Amino acid sequence: MLTENKEYKETKSIVFDIFFPRRCPVCDDIVPPFIYSKGKIARGGFVHADCAKKPRPVKGALCMKCGKPLAKAEKEEEYCADCRKRSYYFDRGFSLFEYRSISGSIYRFKYAGRREYADYYAQVTEKRLGKKLKSLGIQAIIPVPMYEKKKNDRGYNQAEVYAERLSKRFGIPTYVNVIKRVKNTVPMKGLDAGARRNNLKKAFNIVRNDVKFKCILIIDDIYTTGSTVDEIAHEFRMTGTDRIYVLTLAIGQTT
Ligand SMILES: [Zn+2]
Ligand SMILES: [Zn+2]
Repeated sequence: MLTENKEYKETKSIVFDIFFPRRCPVCDDIVPPFIYSKGKIARGGFVHADCAKKPRPVKGALCMKCGKPLAKAEKEEEYCADCRKRSYYFDRGFSLFEYRSISGSIYRFKYAGRREYADYYAQVTEKRLGKKLKSLGIQAIIPVPMYEKKKNDRGYNQAEVYAERLSKRFGIPTYVNVIKRVKNTVPMKGLDAGARRNNLKKAFNIVRNDVKFKCILIIDDIYTTGSTVDEIAHEFRMTGTDRIYVLTLAIGQTT
């Protein structure tokens, strides 16, 4: 049996990159598999160096609950306007990018088969939030599940693809079979927070009672009102999960 040692894996990934060159998550042009720099040939990265500067990181004064950058007028507040209005089942949210600066990238990641973008997203996650995430004692990474038929039509669940890349970097397993989406919800775009909640009622079900986690990290692509991730947090809360964190690729700013 062929064991996949490190060298073999590396060769395999080089060959793969030559035949299926990866696309830049920012501009979508091809990222060369090799670059020549300082007299040496090196593997190309996941993103063009100039493009890497474009997406705006989430930083500055953040909401202590959802992790959204606080608007100018609320810089002194602990929580953003949304989180002051309602309570959540999850403990704390983290996000990588300001939504508007990465929306095109996430769109292609979801709908245009650009699964390789996840390598870049996971790399940025480790760089920016690695220390924090490693300190939380997370036992399981839980991507927001997609309705099965929808996933079959699209070919993959983007949250799952991102979660698996995170698992590799952090050594924390991703579980895709613990919670299921049992209702094909209508698209959330255009719905207000209340309607979103209604739309999600009983949308998720924990299907395995044999696994119990004390601390989990829920993964989604975009944080809008937090309704989806919170519905999942609610389900896990009921099974006795103590600490529930949320990580998304992008988040908007309160206006
Ligand atoms: Zn680029
Ligand atoms: Zn908030």
